Amino acid sequence: MVEVRGVHKSFGAVHVLRGVDLTVRTGEATVVLGPSGSGKSTLLRCVNHLERADRGHVSVDGELIGYRRRGDVLYELKEKQILRQRGAIGFVFQNFNLFPHLTVLENIVEAPVHARHRPRAGAEREARELAERVGIADKLGAYPRQLSGGQQQRVAIARALALDPKVVLFDEPTSALDPELVGEVLDVMRDLARRGTTMIVVTHEIGFAREAADTVVFMDEGRIVESGTPEQVLDRPAHERTRAFLAKVR
Ligand code: ATP
Ligand code: MG
Repeated sequence: MVEVRGVHKSFGAVHVLRGVDLTVRTGEATVVLGPSGSGKSTLLRCVNHLERADRGHVSVDGELIGYRRRGDVLYELKEKQILRQRGAIGFVFQNFNLFPHLTVLENIVEAPVHARHRPRAGAEREARELAERVGIADKLGAYPRQLSGGQQQRVAIARALALDPKVVLFDEPTSALDPELVGEVLDVMRDLARRGTTMIVVTHEIGFAREAADTVVFMDEGRIVESGTPEQVLDRPAHERTRAFLAKVR
C-alpha cells in the first residue's frame, strides 16, 4: 500500500503540491489525470523521494520513504538507504531513459546484478521471463537505438519490474510515442494491472483509465480535486474543473 499524506512541495515561490493525500492499495492501479503544471510529475517524484517533500510524508507498505522517524522528528536517510528504498519503487518515464550503451538484456539485469548483487544466472533467467511478458524476448541482444519507441518503453517496463517492486510509477509512459505504438505499451500495462501490480499511472489515456484503473484521481493546481472509480470520475465528475478537463482530452 502506498500512502501519501499531506504532501506539500514548492519550487522557490511556486507552491506546486498543496497538501496531497493519496492511498493506493496493494494490487490496485490508480490513474492520475490533470492539466499540465498541476503537479502530477512532482507528486510521483515525491513518492520515490527524487523530490523531497517540504511537508507531509510518503510510506510504502508501512515504510516511511526517505526518512526515519525518531519520536516526532523525521531524519533523512542516507543516500544508500534511499537507493535501497527506490529499488522497491519502479519508475517508468516518458522518455524511456534506457542505458544507451547497454543491450536490452543488460538494461534489465543492471540493477539486480550491480545494485543488488544477485547472481547473474538467476537475474538473466528472470530478465528473459520479463522480456517474454512484455513481448521483447527476440530483442535481448539489441541496443536501445535499434528499437522502436514502443519496444524501448516495453524494455523500460521490464527493467522497472526486475527488482520485483512493491509499486510501479508511470509518468506519461505513452506520450512520447508515435500513435501507432501507444497500444502495444498500454497492452503491457493493462496486463500488469490485471496481474495485480500496484501502480500509479499519470496519463491522458482515458480509455486505459477506464479499463485498467481501480481509482482515478483528478489533480489541479497541486491538489487532488476529485477521486473515485473510473465511472464516477470519468462519467459523473462532481467538479466543474474535472468536467472541463475531460471535455478537452476526449
Ligand atoms: P505536465 O502535464 O506538463 O507534465 P505536471 O502536472 O507533471 O505537468 P509538474 O511537472 O509536476 O506538472 O510541474 C508542476 C509545476 O512545478 C510547474 O509549474 C513546473 O514548472 C514546476 N516545477 C516542476 N519541477 C520543478 C523544478 N525542479 N524547479 C522549478 N520548478 C519546477
Ligand atoms: Mg509531468
